[in-house]
Amino acid sequence: MKAVTATMAILRYGELVLKGKNRHRFEKTVYEQVKRALRPFPGIGYDREFGRIVLHLHGAPYEEVVVPLKRIFGLASISPAMAIELDRQLIEEAAARMMQELSPQPRTFKVTVRRVNKKFPHDSQEMNKLVGGAVLRAIPGLGVDVHQPDVELKVELRGEGAWLYARTDQGAGGFPYGSNGRGMLMLSGGIDSPVAGYLAMRQGLRVEAVHFHSYPYTSEKSQQKVRELAERLAGFSGSIRLHMVPFTEVQTRIHAAYADNLLITLLRRAMYRITEKLAEASGAGAIVTGDSLGQVASQTLPSLDAIGSAARLPILRPLICTEKNEIIRIAKSIDTFELSILPYEDCCTLFLPPSPSTNPNLNVIRSIENHMPWLDEAIEDAVRRTESTWIEKGAADNSRFASFF
Ligand code: ATP
Ligand code: MG
Repeated sequence: MKAVTATMAILRYGELVLKGKNRHRFEKTVYEQVKRALRPFPGIGYDREFGRIVLHLHGAPYEEVVVPLKRIFGLASISPAMAIELDRQLIEEAAARMMQELSPQPRTFKVTVRRVNKKFPHDSQEMNKLVGGAVLRAIPGLGVDVHQPDVELKVELRGEGAWLYARTDQGAGGFPYGSNGRGMLMLSGGIDSPVAGYLAMRQGLRVEAVHFHSYPYTSEKSQQKVRELAERLAGFSGSIRLHMVPFTEVQTRIHAAYADNLLITLLRRAMYRITEKLAEASGAGAIVTGDSLGQVASQTLPSLDAIGSAARLPILRPLICTEKNEIIRIAKSIDTFELSILPYEDCCTLFLPPSPSTNPNLNVIRSIENHMPWLDEAIEDAVRRTESTWIEKGAADNSRFASFF
C-alpha cells in the first residue's frame, strides 16, 4: 500500500480569546514569522484562512518543515494534511492509510467531515459513516468515541479536492514574538533566567539580554556560556541582542566601601540601575529576571522589594511562583539545562558576605548608598563600556566549549 505523504500543512493560531483589531495584528505577525522561518523552502505556497494558515508543501518534507514551525510563538498546533481528488473511494482509502500510519496508534477516533462543496454527492453525515466504516475495517481493535477520541480525523470536502488530516503536532503557543513590547532580560549563566527569558518571549515580549561579568575575576568562558544561552533563546526569535556589562569596577568599589551582609543587595541594586539605563536606550518597557520566591536570600519578599525599588520600570518575574522542578523541566525542553549546569563563576559569587541578609531594610540601604558619592558615575561608566552584540541562532562557536568539557 502506498504510504501517505503530506502535501499540505495546516497551522492554527493560538490565543483564541483575542478579538477584533488585536486578532488581526496577531495573525499578521504570526503569518510573517512563518514565512520568514520557512525561507529555506522557497517552493511552499501559502493561503491565509480564518483562524489558520494553509501551506501547500510542493514537495517540501513535512517533518522538516514542522521543526522551525514548532518554535513560532502564536501557533497553537500544526497538522500534516493530504489533498486528494474528490472521489469517495479515494477518500476512504486515504483516510484508512492516514490512520494506520499514526504513531502511536490511537485506541479511539472520530471522523468529522465538513462539506464546503455542496455539489459533492454525499452529505457530511453520510461521509462520516462511510469514512469511519472504512477506517474501522482497516484497523481492527480501533473504537469510535465521539466525545473524547484520541484522534479526530478531519475531512474537508472543497471545490478543488478533499483535505484530510488526523495528526496534530503541538505548537509553541503564546503571543507572536514582539507583539507585547520590549523587555531587558537579566541573563545570568544559571538555570532560571534563560527559562524566564523564554517565557517572556512566548508572552510576546521582544527580549534583549543583559549580562554582568566581572572579568578578569570571572573567566572569558563564563561569558561564552552566556552567549550560548542567548543563542539558544535566539532559536525562538531568529536573533537576540546581548549587552555584556563590565561590572568589575562597580563591584570592587562597592565591596571596598561596604563588605557586610547587605552587599548582595547593593550589588543587585547597581545591576538594576544599569539595566534600566540600557532599557531606556533600547526603548524597553520592562526588566525581566529569573527570580523565584524564596529560592535564595536575594529572593525573599523584603529582598525583592529592596532590590527592585532601585528601578522604576516594571520588573517581570515569570518564575516567581514556579518550583525548581518545573523550571528544570522547561529548561530541558528549551535545551538550556545542560548548558546552564556547566560550572562557571557568577559575578555575584565573588566577595560573598558570610551571611547575606534575607530582610534588608531600604532606609539602611539608601543611607549606605548615600555614602558612595562615586556610585552614579561608576554606574554611568559601566553603561558606557557595555558591549552590545547581536547573537544569531546557531551562530556561537561551540567548539571552544566542546574542548573544555
Ligand atoms: P539564575 O539561575 O537565573 O542564575 P539564581 O537562582 O541563581 O538564578 P540569583 O543568582 O539570585 O538566582 O539571580 C536572580 C536573578 O538575577 C537571575 O535570575 C537573573 O535574572 C539576575 N542575575 C543574577 N546574576 C546575574 C548576572 N551576572 N547577569 C545578569 N543577570 C543576573
Ligand atoms: Mg544565578
